[in-house]
Amino acid sequence: MNKKRVYSFGNGNAEGKADMKNLLGGKGANLAEMNLIGVPVPPGFTITTEVCTEYNELGKKPVVELLKPEVEAAIHNIERLTSTKFGDAQNPLLVSVRSGARASMPGMMDTILNLGLNDEAVAGIAKKSGNEWFAWDSYRRFVQMYGDVVLGMKTESKDEIDPFEKIMEAVKEVKGINLDTELTVEDLKDLVKRFKKAVKEQTGKDFPTSAWDQLWGAIIAVFDSWQNTRAIYYRRLNNIPDEWGTAVNVQAMVFGNMGNTSATGVAFTRDAATGENLFNGEYLINAQGEDVVAGVRTPQEITLEGSRRWANLQNIPENERATKYPSLEETMPVLFKELNSVQQKLEDHYKDMQDMEFTIQEGKLWLLQTRNGKRTGAAMVKIAMDLLREKTIDEKTALLRLEPNKLDELLHPVFDSVAIRSANVLAKGLPASPGAATGQIVFFADEAGNYENSILVRIETSPEDLEGMNVARGILTARGGMTSHAAVVARGMGKCCVSGAGSLRVNYKTRTVTIGDITLNEGDWISLNGSTGEVYEDKVMTRKPDMSGDFGLIMEMSDKFTRMNVRTNADTPKDAKTAREYGAKGIGLCRTEHMFFEGSRIKAMREMILASTTTGRKKALAKLLPYQREDFEGILEAMAGYGVTIRLLDPPLHEFVPHQLATQKELADEMGISLDMVKAKVAELEEFNPMLGHRGCRLGNTYPEITEMQARAIIEAALNLKSKGIDARPEIMVPLVGTIKEFEIQAEIIHKTAKKVFEERNDSIHYQVGTMIEIPRAALTADLIAREADFFSFGTNDLTQMTFGYSRDDAGSFLPIYINKGILKNDPFQVLDQDGVGLLVKMGTEKGRSAKPDLKVGICGEHGGEPSSVEFCHNVGMNYVSCSPFRVPIARLAAAQAAIR
Ligand code: PEP
Ligand code: MG
Repeated sequence: MNKKRVYSFGNGNAEGKADMKNLLGGKGANLAEMNLIGVPVPPGFTITTEVCTEYNELGKKPVVELLKPEVEAAIHNIERLTSTKFGDAQNPLLVSVRSGARASMPGMMDTILNLGLNDEAVAGIAKKSGNEWFAWDSYRRFVQMYGDVVLGMKTESKDEIDPFEKIMEAVKEVKGINLDTELTVEDLKDLVKRFKKAVKEQTGKDFPTSAWDQLWGAIIAVFDSWQNTRAIYYRRLNNIPDEWGTAVNVQAMVFGNMGNTSATGVAFTRDAATGENLFNGEYLINAQGEDVVAGVRTPQEITLEGSRRWANLQNIPENERATKYPSLEETMPVLFKELNSVQQKLEDHYKDMQDMEFTIQEGKLWLLQTRNGKRTGAAMVKIAMDLLREKTIDEKTALLRLEPNKLDELLHPVFDSVAIRSANVLAKGLPASPGAATGQIVFFADEAGNYENSILVRIETSPEDLEGMNVARGILTARGGMTSHAAVVARGMGKCCVSGAGSLRVNYKTRTVTIGDITLNEGDWISLNGSTGEVYEDKVMTRKPDMSGDFGLIMEMSDKFTRMNVRTNADTPKDAKTAREYGAKGIGLCRTEHMFFEGSRIKAMREMILASTTTGRKKALAKLLPYQREDFEGILEAMAGYGVTIRLLDPPLHEFVPHQLATQKELADEMGISLDMVKAKVAELEEFNPMLGHRGCRLGNTYPEITEMQARAIIEAALNLKSKGIDARPEIMVPLVGTIKEFEIQAEIIHKTAKKVFEERNDSIHYQVGTMIEIPRAALTADLIAREADFFSFGTNDLTQMTFGYSRDDAGSFLPIYINKGILKNDPFQVLDQDGVGLLVKMGTEKGRSAKPDLKVGICGEHGGEPSSVEFCHNVGMNYVSCSPFRVPIARLAAAQAAIR
């Protein structure tokens, strides 16, 4: 049988269904499904994502040949269902052509509406609808969209003014009007003429008049848009594979701009910002879909309740609200009821919050799209837990609904409650994406990186701004509702955003924003509250939020299913405490070198390094001992009852010596030696490749007295705590082991020291001695090492460095390019390379356990808090992952998800 490339739907029938997302894209699969469950959807068809891949391989001509019979049949099917004819002058079928990938990529790819119009068909539509203005306005929009998207009229220039908009603005200025709706039929006719002329001038080609030519051009343009810069960037940001491709959805047009019984809007079954179970959304009477999202006209609320809240936000009295901004519930009560029951039906069916697009054409409701709605981290948690409480989903499903990385948003800053009291509110917009942000104003997305903390201020944002939005701390726009591009994208990123702050006057030329009588310049500080919509003058201090309620329940539920423990990487009692509050069960890595930098410690450390004899070194180490012991007591106490893995000194010694003349002089004076001697020692420590040099256990094996001192400090600290009734559980870890002998010698020193301390104190304590597995050779000989070690901890930072041969410190110069070019999918220092480095981790674990079946295995590289890497660690059979304190909740959830999956 021939491969099927086109799937039709309409009038309650469909060839596809919801679980065919990979083939039909999210939009196409759901359009089919809506037909099957009796939701009104304009008839149409979906060209599969596989065709996009074929197109990328074969090019335009062969793909059009392949598609032709099926697309023609599918168009005839729409003609039959709508009693119209594609390309006809009297009774033309008009269609929309939209992209639709497996994962939703809002605004990233292209859409063309009203396709099928030409100079004849426009007359047919005018006659059929009895509305000449509508017909010409549709034609005007079509030429503009098609010109921009298919014929490449839109420039990539920074001021982003669409060439057609320029023509429109000029006409409006001459006529002295503001709104598009004030244009007359004659104006619209004139505009279409001018638009086409501009197309001819800029592209050298005539605007296509044949509906079929238009259709093929649009289909190919949608496939091409898979490869546009913003789509590629969005995919990188959201880990969407390039090879997925997009489907193309062609659908009979329905019009929300056919007069006052027509409307169009976007609706959510629950609140996408807070998660509250409240049907809400925005609509505009007599408008086409892009009018709502473009934010040119301020959309109104769908429900009366929402509208009241919205109005309150804007401080508008109730009577004024009802006349100026009535809800759909008030303007079209019967249709509202119908829409309300559709939204219920869709949420019940999909068992998740839905984000829908609808159009009302002359009193008839049509759904154009439904999908699981994007939401903030807070809404994600609330919706999952509410659906669980409503018994719509079970615990496992609720946990799997959560995106671990998004929990991060719940840990996001809020304004300091004291600082905010004296802050001056400049303006109020819509609370588009929660959190607090403070930063310096930038007006252009590509300048967001100019300050460490920037707030991107725009009249409105467009998909081209994506990268800058990601870099900025917060986003503020003058136009646009809760479903504007800025709002949707910011929520997806978990970035604080205030949109539609109407009192802002942004001037890109002068790089200023005026609010009332205050004018702010680029670089001035402002602050945003994305949860209330407030905009404040100046910098306002932010602080961390407190977490309780559903967040706590999710963490509890995670622990019920999880098999791995989550530990933390912490070097101070403070970090250990924070991590413990987030649910860390132990420390997986305490880097002792961080303890050597403060005050008099660094002096003693330098003295030790500069000493030329063992006696000299021992003398300096004796000074360090009490500091170390005190530090270890603090951290062991903060994690009492749980294992604390303390790693012996790891970095190359040159990191501890002064490199500037002034400090070298100071050191020489302090130590009573000559400057030249200091200089000579510093020079001696200089290495060509310090990461592969004299570091890790190579230090302890050349200067055993260092290991001795550290082991003594750890054991003494634990004994001191024991005497106070505190349950200290030290695990001493040897870094950078490559051969079993290296480990054996270190372990022997530790055990000898412990024995000595026990004898001195006439007391003892349980401790473990294990090793990091961070050199490929250690992974390869893990069975030998496991015979002597109590535990393994994979140091995937060094293991990645040495497996790839990429310097951790220098990879920044080429990794971004490698990722951009697709040579690497991810930064392997962030996301564990499962195929390569992961293989060593797997082998190391298996070999280790073959020698010692109950060997404790964990990970303490950066990957320990990254969800896909956590899942890998679970699958390998690790006992725990260890990550920085703020990633502990993320790792707990990811570990539970791995166990459930
Ligand atoms: C590692 O190498 O993965 C590790 C945790 O140690 P460090 O980052 O301190 O080298
Ligand atoms: Mg390391």
